[in-house]
Amino acid sequence: MTDYQAMEDRSSMGILTKRDVVIVRGSGTRVWDSEGKEYIDCIAGHGTANVGHSHPVVVDAVARQAKRLMSCPEAFYNDIRAKLGTALCQEAAPIGLSRLFLCNSGTEAVEAALKFARVVTGRTGVIAAQRGFHGRTFGALSATWNPKYRKPFEPLLPGFTHVLYNDVEAMDKAIDDRTAAVILEIVQGEGGVRLASSEYLKRVETFCRERGALFIVDEVQTGFGRTGALFASQHHDLRPDILCLAKAMAGGLPVGAVLCSDSVKEIPAMSHGTTFGGSPVICAAALATLSVIKNERLVEHAEVSGTYFRDRLRAISAPGIREIRGMGLMVGVELKGRVTPVLRGLMERSVMALPAGNTVLRFLPPLSITSEDIDQVTDALKEVLSSLEASPRVRSNKQGGRRRHSTAGELGSGESG
Ligand code: PLP
Repeated sequence: MTDYQAMEDRSSMGILTKRDVVIVRGSGTRVWDSEGKEYIDCIAGHGTANVGHSHPVVVDAVARQAKRLMSCPEAFYNDIRAKLGTALCQEAAPIGLSRLFLCNSGTEAVEAALKFARVVTGRTGVIAAQRGFHGRTFGALSATWNPKYRKPFEPLLPGFTHVLYNDVEAMDKAIDDRTAAVILEIVQGEGGVRLASSEYLKRVETFCRERGALFIVDEVQTGFGRTGALFASQHHDLRPDILCLAKAMAGGLPVGAVLCSDSVKEIPAMSHGTTFGGSPVICAAALATLSVIKNERLVEHAEVSGTYFRDRLRAISAPGIREIRGMGLMVGVELKGRVTPVLRGLMERSVMALPAGNTVLRFLPPLSITSEDIDQVTDALKEVLSSLEASPRVRSNKQGGRRRHSTAGELGSGESG
């Protein structure tokens, strides 16, 4: 049998740690490896497969558009792009976000948002939150907090300040007349599935309005139904100036988008853009994804299933669990110990989950996950935690002679998204 791990290792830069498994197929809430083993996928392509893997409506829309027109730069008008703009700005987006910039990833959406904020305000300061994650290009990385991602690439952009998340006073002190923008996640994903209060978010919005800064909400991870609202800003009735989107927007294909209010205007002509932004195939996938989310009532489903998921987790009551957090189907379990052996134990029991830092387990399943699947996931977690409690010193450590494969010691620490 072809050794795809060895094959990929030969050409890979080896920057990212990899799990010791070759994934070859996905459908709905499931993925399969090259040996035919089935997993319940609570990673969902780092939160990109909200509608499930290879949803037939998305696949069909992509195939039809690919046959008709694959490339069309934004220098031309395009039918499918026009339809997506209308669907997003006039039907889906929170009130007031009536303009759209299309790109290819979350970090590009954040990059665009930061550039727009500078131009619009004529200021350069940006306030972001500790534990916040906004991407890895230089602007977005400057807003990202974790030194693990920042340090190797310093010096980053000047003018960025990180304040304690969910702390009104810290934000009040930080915003001044040099502040172009505040950028925040509604739920910090990579930072440990941490929620901000409504009061905090509303106060930040007010500070921004009063002091002439733009309020950028990064919904790259929380967007498109993940938290039990189409956009998490809607839980708090927020009116951001800029909303950054990506991940789940196009059913699993690469995409990024920035939705802007009327306050974001007079961006100099031709000053920003990207070759692939607004590609017809991606726009077709995004339109189909929006229709699936609506027709299958996935937003409502995420709300109900997320509550069920957290209730089931609370019922485990293992001593190794410190706290259960989340919103909709963005579910976090803070452990008292490291997350790595738990992730491995779950993989052995056919469940894929993500880390969020060293001690938080993160579940981002497709929004169509059933209560039976959730029972299976939580039963597996219960088993893993009790077996680790019974033998806390047992650590699997089979590196297998390859480079940067995840072991119990590493799994999780090198993954993000
Ligand atoms: N912003 C948030 C909140 C994210 O979670 C991520 C990725 O996980 C990004 C930005 C960066 O997105 P991408 O990896 O598509 O560049």
